[in-house]
Amino acid sequence: MKIGLVAVGQAGGKIADALLRYERSAGVEIVADAVAVNTARADLLGLQEIDPERRVLIGGDRVKGHGSGADNELGAELAREDIGEVRDAVDAIPTSDVDAFLVVAALGGGTGSGGVPVICRELRRIYEEPVYALGVLPAREEGGIYTLNAARSLKTVVEHADATLLFDNDAHRETGESLAGGYGRVNEEIARRLGVLLSAGEARDPTPEKVVDASEIINTLGRSGGVASLGYASAPLERKRGLFGGRKRIEEDALESTTRVTATVRRAALGGLTLPCELPDVERALVVVSGPPETLSRAGVEDARRWLEEATGTPEVRGGDYPLRDTDHLAAAVLLGGVTEAPRLAELRAGAVEAQRNVAAIAERAELSGGIWEAEGLDPLF
Ligand code: GDP
Repeated sequence: MKIGLVAVGQAGGKIADALLRYERSAGVEIVADAVAVNTARADLLGLQEIDPERRVLIGGDRVKGHGSGADNELGAELAREDIGEVRDAVDAIPTSDVDAFLVVAALGGGTGSGGVPVICRELRRIYEEPVYALGVLPAREEGGIYTLNAARSLKTVVEHADATLLFDNDAHRETGESLAGGYGRVNEEIARRLGVLLSAGEARDPTPEKVVDASEIINTLGRSGGVASLGYASAPLERKRGLFGGRKRIEEDALESTTRVTATVRRAALGGLTLPCELPDVERALVVVSGPPETLSRAGVEDARRWLEEATGTPEVRGGDYPLRDTDHLAAAVLLGGVTEAPRLAELRAGAVEAQRNVAAIAERAELSGGIWEAEGLDPLF
């Protein structure tokens, strides 16, 4: 499946860069073209993979290329004002090659958080292809404003995107890792997951036993504004050496490969989700298993699909395989569409309501006292 990629804000740009790097290193074609949109000139200049001609600075007249801070109302306003420039850049993407658009951003900041719903709405107005959002949720430690930004942005994005795939930064932190220190690894993780899912929909050699085509990914994500989560897990394979030290085929019995496939799919769906959720809380699912052809047990993929049907309680579970010759891993990607509830979303909503109340209370106090410094006993400079 080929996407037209639109990256908004700092995190959006870095994730798009990671996806383009994945595409190159895996030798697949999943991005028809990529556009980066930002209010911060330095962030656009720092991108490595996106064509400089496809980088759009918005709000230049107002914020002079310095970004929108963490003000997502400003981010949305600047995107609305300069939407024509975003439209022109996206227009250059060859849409005959595009199965869907993917608009990528972090929802907790300013530019991406405010820009994503505006850009999704505009693309959906113009194009027939589905418009999906990939939104990164902030970590808890980032506090109330990031939580409030993410919740308000998400509430608006689900109105304007065909579906929103969420990635919870907190669920992917490694023990002891600082938030910013982990971004590079986390972005590669997002890219690998998306990469495996999207490349499954592309024609390839060796030919899969059961191809997953773009329409199956689209049907699983849905087009009615749902939330999606993407699970991933992999298992190392032992490749025996040939007589002269060369790499040999992986030889194993059918039962072993069936068990490995089902166990890997379970791990992806139960513990490896971008947005952790309970399986009965999803409406649709798609499983893709990739690895060397001899390890892709047909029975395993079918067993895993049936297990997902039971665990989710929905008959809408699709499945297929994606053979790769040069890998020492078996990997499973599980896409869950129509997620109706998730603990992190409930927490985000509650945190956002509280943060909104605090912001309102501070504003009210400031108004009552005539200014936030009034009662401090500080003398002004002049
Ligand atoms: P914007 O440029 O105003 O849209 O702001 P950012 O894209 O920097 O969004 C801030 C949010 O994104 C915070 O919740 C950060 O934790 C998160 N963030 C920033 N950079 C990255 C990144 O490279 N990867 C990921 N996954 N999250 C990031």
